[in-house]
Amino acid sequence: MNNDLHFETLAIHAGQDPDPTTGAIMTPIYQTSTYVQRAPGEHQGYDYSRSDNPTRAALEALIAALEGGEYGLAFASGMAATDTILRLFKSGDHIIVGNDVYGGTYRLFERVLSRYGLQFSWLDLNNHDAVQAALRPETKLLWLETPTNPKLELADIAALVDLMPDGVMVAVDNTFASPVSQQPLRLGADIVMHSSTKYLGGHSDVVGGVLALNDQETHQQLKFLQNAVGSVPGPMDSFLVLRGVKTLHIRMERHSENALQIARFLEDHPAVRQVYYPGLESHPQHELAKRQMKYFGGMVSMLLENEEVARQMSSRTKIFALAESLGGVESLIEHPYSMTHASTADSEIAVDPALVRLSVGIEHIDDLLADLRQALA
Ligand SMILES: *Cc1c(COP(=O)(O)O)cnc(C)c1O
Repeated sequence: MNNDLHFETLAIHAGQDPDPTTGAIMTPIYQTSTYVQRAPGEHQGYDYSRSDNPTRAALEALIAALEGGEYGLAFASGMAATDTILRLFKSGDHIIVGNDVYGGTYRLFERVLSRYGLQFSWLDLNNHDAVQAALRPETKLLWLETPTNPKLELADIAALVDLMPDGVMVAVDNTFASPVSQQPLRLGADIVMHSSTKYLGGHSDVVGGVLALNDQETHQQLKFLQNAVGSVPGPMDSFLVLRGVKTLHIRMERHSENALQIARFLEDHPAVRQVYYPGLESHPQHELAKRQMKYFGGMVSMLLENEEVARQMSSRTKIFALAESLGGVESLIEHPYSMTHASTADSEIAVDPALVRLSVGIEHIDDLLADLRQALA
């Protein structure tokens, strides 16, 4: 597949040639752990499914194409993908991280990986002076999310890449934007990570993670780690992500249209103190959002009067289901303080208890607005 084709075409075809033996147009679910060899060591490119599996290989080629990278890798979850990147480093290495990240990323870095001697600095990535001042000889990685979870803050990927000296990798968690909206490798980042559980899968029926990158040596190291550590997705899960991605571009367009209307509605509502959405003119980084993102995405957060009101509203919606996760076709609502971000409570990156987060789905906008209206009443 020629990777210069348009995104919409790649999303449907990249990595997914018709099956050579049967002509099946959909990538088969190669539900097998092992592969018969002609003679010892003489196989057809596959010897064991932890190392390689054809359904997973199709997904890996697809994600590389979508992010404009040379290489893709698929994992059992977004956290497994993140963990595998961090295993490139060793005790004593230093990592700079944005201070508004997915709660599970905070937990993995601070409560697991810091026990192995990795050192983390949590910073506001919009304060470029502070980022520069935090650099040390041992700094090996800048980890960033944009937009962030749950406050929808942006980081200027190209500017941060420029700020990093040689030898410091930049990894971007691109889960919220999805590759249809922004492609960090094209802005100079070294590695892109996604929780494919979210927009890539898009139907709340699979947990997975993917990476995309250009550097051959780093790819070889990550591929080695993927096999050595073994947190790989099964063929069925790989298939579900392949299938989900085919409609990513039209889903994201609708998610974004609905989210913008909802953000505007909330901004005018007296019960809402603040709305966080990069598509609003009131968002402090709206100009950067316009420059860096094609779509503003489906995630909207809001600050209500207090924790009690936030909890009540989260329980009152009828179409917005009260659940963790995001990025599916159906709308979800959640209370980060007690749900997705509970692991950051009392930490330097704790979230406001009055915050409510929406993952706006692709249902009819009028039904979504009516649901929020009655829940805020
Ligand atoms: C969900 C999520 C993750 C973790 O991915 P899993 O697939 O749940 O392991 C990481 N980053 C962001 C931004 C997420 O939303």
